[in-house]
Amino acid sequence: MLIQLTSAIIKAMATGYVYHSIYLQHDTGQHVEVAARLEAIISYLEKTGLKSKLTPIEPRPATVDEIALVHQKSYIKEIEEKAAKGGGALDPDTVMSPDSYQAALYAAGGLIRATEAVMGGEVANAFALVRPPGHHATAGQAMGFCLFNNIAIAARYALGKYKLERILIIDFDVHHGNGTQGTFYDSPQVMYISTHEYPFYPGTGDINETGSGEGRGTNLNIPLPAGCGDSEYLEVFEQVIAPAARRFNPQLILVSVGYDGHWADPLAMMNLSVSGFAKMTGIIKGLADELCNGRLVLTLEGGYNLEALAGSVKATFDVLLGNASGNISGAPPRRSEPPDIESLIGEIKKIHGLG
Ligand SMILES: [Zn+2]
Repeated sequence: MLIQLTSAIIKAMATGYVYHSIYLQHDTGQHVEVAARLEAIISYLEKTGLKSKLTPIEPRPATVDEIALVHQKSYIKEIEEKAAKGGGALDPDTVMSPDSYQAALYAAGGLIRATEAVMGGEVANAFALVRPPGHHATAGQAMGFCLFNNIAIAARYALGKYKLERILIIDFDVHHGNGTQGTFYDSPQVMYISTHEYPFYPGTGDINETGSGEGRGTNLNIPLPAGCGDSEYLEVFEQVIAPAARRFNPQLILVSVGYDGHWADPLAMMNLSVSGFAKMTGIIKGLADELCNGRLVLTLEGGYNLEALAGSVKATFDVLLGNASGNISGAPPRRSEPPDIESLIGEIKKIHGLG
């Protein structure tokens, strides 16, 4: 009895991670979204001894029916057939190789397995280290390095399997998750909150995109000017995201994690540090503890400076394990004076009735 109880407590404290070598087989050639991203993460987690503290969650391929919770069957077939023919470009940014269809099924399935592990109490929280990423993929279109929308599929899966009524998706990738927003735009069951550089790729993410029909008010965009760093993001988390999350009162929190807001990232112009990412994760973990028994599932989207990416993933795991509060040394160099976002925050609070 005591042994069973102890093992239950250890599991309840555990942080899971999803990884599979199939994720390296999605070959994008000369591209920023490459297998070396995951290789850098895994080798850093091993080198720092952190990997041994995490609980592995074995991914499985998502079924076509699971992918079809979000995507058109004709589109799924198109991706399968293109892989069988050797792959190629899907749009100017997005390419596939022969193994990309399998990798994409395992990416969505990996996040489904992470969600099952958290919902079933196997682990307290989990982070899916997958590729291809997902948040730009729409029902019928690949874009922005994304084939299937992993987080949207996992959310729909969790709504059905666990009969949930409210799932919160937070997306702090530097790009707006147009695919995720579009999937749940008229749904009152999934609230989508995104911080992103704006104006920027993919062009969506305006403050006035707030949801439609029964989903009105459950889409919250925080479009930030270039140059925002830790203090601006933390202010947004405290003043907008935390109160909106408390009001929505989710039963599960899913996070699209992108580290392309790091100051060293080659794609964007934000100024976040590893410490900033850790503090944001700490706030999200605090909200999960407060609102939904700690049920928190993260998935990797962007992040293209390998050193910043690996360090940020480790810091994220440290916070998930409860080992760090985010006070990590090493301030980012300021590119310029940080932008004033007070009036933007005020406008968003007004649109969403957040006091
Ligand atoms: Zn991104």
